[in-house]
Amino acid sequence: VGGWIVTRGAGQNSTYYGKIEDIVLAQDYVCPTCDIVTADFPAAATGPDTDQILIGSEGCFGILYSATLRVRRYRPENTQRYSFIFRSWEEAKNACREVLQGEFGLPSVFRLSDPEETDIALKLYGVEGTPIDTMMRLRGYKQGERCLLVGTADGDRDFAKLVARKVKRVCLAHGAMSATGLVTKKWEEGRFRDPYLRDALQDYGVITDTLECSVTWTSLQRVHTQVREFCHSRPNTICMTHMSHFYPQGCNLYFIFIARMSGLEEYREYQAGILDAIQKAGATMSHHHGIGKMTAPWLEGQIGKAQLGLFRQVKAYFDPKNVMNPGGTLALDLPDEQRRGVAGEAGAPAGDKPQADG
Ligand SMILES: Cc1cc2nc3c(=O)[nH]c(=O)nc-3n(C[C@H](O)[C@H](O)[C@H](O)COP(=O)(O)OP(=O)(O)OC[C@H]3O[C@@H](n4cnc5c(N)ncnc54)[C@H](O)[C@@H]3O)c2cc1C
Repeated sequence: VGGWIVTRGAGQNSTYYGKIEDIVLAQDYVCPTCDIVTADFPAAATGPDTDQILIGSEGCFGILYSATLRVRRYRPENTQRYSFIFRSWEEAKNACREVLQGEFGLPSVFRLSDPEETDIALKLYGVEGTPIDTMMRLRGYKQGERCLLVGTADGDRDFAKLVARKVKRVCLAHGAMSATGLVTKKWEEGRFRDPYLRDALQDYGVITDTLECSVTWTSLQRVHTQVREFCHSRPNTICMTHMSHFYPQGCNLYFIFIARMSGLEEYREYQAGILDAIQKAGATMSHHHGIGKMTAPWLEGQIGKAQLGLFRQVKAYFDPKNVMNPGGTLALDLPDEQRRGVAGEAGAPAGDKPQADG
């Protein structure tokens, strides 16, 4: 789990179970200047949280060699699966927000595809040509407009049933039609296998990659529109988008592009353009992939000088000789000329709240 923790990753059931930073209780690191061992109390008020300083350190402060995680009961027999088709992206987004703010308990998997992804997903999940497909057409859920939501509710049996029932009520109130738990099962079947298609496609000069970010409910539509506008500025390019990690205050946005490209430079330039668009629109540079080297040039543009300065001081404390993951990770030793961050359109870094040094 080391990579998961130091990149602040998120599993597909994070809407209920949380991201890894919500799951870690204690950690042991060996760093160039010291060892850090944190305690596994469920909570403390003993100054800043050392665990949270080290989670997301991407191997730059030390090596994580042991971690204590909060575990939950594994009760797959209680899982409630559901899927819904909405007439429009607008109705689908509103329904998701209402579910997340409903305070009846959170769904576990919760994944909403935009119209472009929905059309491809319905083919991939074998829905085309089935009675569900016929019903959708008859009831006016149009190709190019409709949106697919798949999800589960987990935990105690009565709790899972309650959450699934409430999700259904909200979705139907927003004009959705049930597409049954079978579609969710289909998604589950391919979810870990499908990403491997990337390598096979590359043999044919077709590049597929993903970029993702975090948005508030207020910035969601702006980010979705602006990033997709950039993605589609390139002809013959597919850009599928979904949200798959939700919070009462917002969600992630995950962009998958598929295009024929002639070489590495073209790919890098396109990828950088998407990252520019994500930052300009006011989203975070990552929700769960981490920053690494690839996104590092945009980090300061998002968090500002003061926060990056803090990261650099922490780095100097743990690793003054810069032996841990040197070469640009987390922008810690990134030369200024490689910085590519752009201020948000409102003149402020990501998010809706202006930053002190924005
Ligand atoms: C197709 C695909 C799908 C993905 N889907 C998801 C997803 O759904 N959710 C998600 O969160 N992420 C996802 N990722 C991103 C990636 O899988 C995660 O960031 C992952 O958790 C990294 O773990 P790893 O063990 O592979 O780390 P690595 O890739 O090996 O390392 C990542 C970084 O962490 C450092 N590191 C690793 N272990 C340690 C350690 N013990 N101590 C200190 N530093 C360490 C490495 O030096 C490196 O900088 C996906 C990636 C791909 C390619």
